[in-house]
Amino acid sequence: MKNLEIYIHTPFCVKKCEYCDFLSFPADDATQLRYVKGLMAEMIFYGPLMRDYQVSTVYIGGGTPSWLNEEWTAALMEGVFECFNVAEDAEISIECNPGTLSRDKLLCYRDAGINRLSIGLQSANADELKLLGRIHTFEQFVTNYEVARNVGFKNINV
Ligand code: SF4
Repeated sequence: MKNLEIYIHTPFCVKKCEYCDFLSFPADDATQLRYVKGLMAEMIFYGPLMRDYQVSTVYIGGGTPSWLNEEWTAALMEGVFECFNVAEDAEISIECNPGTLSRDKLLCYRDAGINRLSIGLQSANADELKLLGRIHTFEQFVTNYEVARNVGFKNINV
């Protein structure tokens, strides 16, 4: 069986950081939901073409994937599991920004099969975070990190 690694891009962010060159922008709920439905349609289309492949990693990147409603993220993960042959030990990551996470959201990720977090922290210095246009404080990062560990995430990239 051949190996497949899936990347799912979500281009939405609460606001644009000063230094950002990525394709990312704010969007209302209706736009985000339309995009999620588009991703589902892509998975339904590509899944049958990938029958000879086994998925070793899934990465939900952005943008700020953790800004999406967690129920939509869970639906996306359901789509991944239904459309593709995902290895039992697959590494399944989501990119997160402090300031967009909560305990409920992290529990939802865990229950949806996500087993790795990649948390964006550009600085531990309050003035630098402000200068970069980040939406969060260092303290928010620490709180998010502790909650993530607490609900069972052992694989966290910062
Ligand atoms: S959170 Fe990341 S993707 Fe979004 S604007 Fe900031 S740097 Fe760009």
